[in-house]
Amino acid sequence: MADKDLREKIDTWLNFKEKTAVAGFRPSAVHKTVPGATEKEIEEILMSLVIEGRLKVEWEIMCPECFSLIRTTAQRLEQEIEEYCWHCGREVWLDTFQPVFYFPGKKARHGTI
Ligand SMILES: [Zn+2]
Repeated sequence: MADKDLREKIDTWLNFKEKTAVAGFRPSAVHKTVPGATEKEIEEILMSLVIEGRLKVEWEIMCPECFSLIRTTAQRLEQEIEEYCWHCGREVWLDTFQPVFYFPGKKARHGTI
């Protein structure tokens, strides 16, 4: 899919979602409504919108053993970190960072899809 078409489709989706109760979303939520593009392509466009100030991003760090959310960070960490997971009681090395995008001005951590 051409980059311009993809951007327009994502923009339409964002304009619609911004009027709803949804505050945050993952690239997979956009992916469902924009078939033909890869999740990676969608993520790259969403990241460019973060740079433009249209969106905000946080990184969710998931436990690789039990898939619980361990914490969120404002910055993507460039290296693995060792953390204790309170959910499954293991020391785990974390290198899986999932972006969650937010509309600026909407309350974070409410109605994430
Ligand atoms: Zn765990």
